Amino acid sequence: MLAEMNIPVWWPPAAAEAEVEGIAMVAPAVSAAVPRAAIPPVAPESIAASKRPARAADLKPSEDRAAPALQPLPAGIATMDWPALQAAVAGCRACRLCEGRHNTVFGVGPAAPAPGRAPQVDWLIVGEAPGEKEDLAGEPFVGPAGKLLDNMLKAIGLDRHANVFIANVIKCRPPGNRNPEPGEVAQCEPYLRRQIELLEPKIILAMGRFAVNALLQATVPEVHKLPLGKLRGQPHQYRGVPVIATYHPAYLLRNLPDKAKAWADLCLALEVLQRRA
Ligand code: SF4
Repeated sequence: MLAEMNIPVWWPPAAAEAEVEGIAMVAPAVSAAVPRAAIPPVAPESIAASKRPARAADLKPSEDRAAPALQPLPAGIATMDWPALQAAVAGCRACRLCEGRHNTVFGVGPAAPAPGRAPQVDWLIVGEAPGEKEDLAGEPFVGPAGKLLDNMLKAIGLDRHANVFIANVIKCRPPGNRNPEPGEVAQCEPYLRRQIELLEPKIILAMGRFAVNALLQATVPEVHKLPLGKLRGQPHQYRGVPVIATYHPAYLLRNLPDKAKAWADLCLALEVLQRRA
């Protein structure tokens, strides 16, 4: 089922039957993942001699390895220009998510009109957090969900490289695609806030639960308790910018009947934008 949803599935190969008692007990992950031929023969006496110290060492592999230290958020995010903000995100080590990332995912959009300026767009799409493909590509919404989003945008004349900016609430991939923790969302929030200040979008499409919570927490009381369905169908506000809540494209791939609702949300966003103009 997970593979059908394009979620990578890992399952350990069946553990080879250990001929030597102790190898599987000491390092089960290694004995399961490494072909038997790759395991060098071990003399019985060395097994006996190494059993106690080797086990003690293997049971605490990471405790002795110091993880790179976390650092506070860079100072002055609220006054950074676009390139400074990009650089700050790229080097950010303000929460544990930096430890497993391949790339930070700042966002994607058209080129800036001049050095130091943010891209000029009316539309901002805000998703949740990078997944595996986004982490590797350094770009939000790639893979099947990204393709669906691109097609939805294309239907109303938008293109991620021309006239819409796409960003996430969280800039680094949560391990195993788990949900971001509240502390991680809070740490990363100043980056999105500054992106919105610099982009000055005329409409924001918040895609998925976390994006909706993050953007509407100041204006919708107890937003996290409301079903997404109840937040759809009306414009909300983020610092004066209209926000339309809608489903995440990854959810739509699993719930095809709700595509029609997402289309209605997109049409509502278009209508709100036209009314503003
Ligand atoms: S998720 Fe955000 S706050 Fe955490 S390290 Fe990445 S950029 Fe920094």
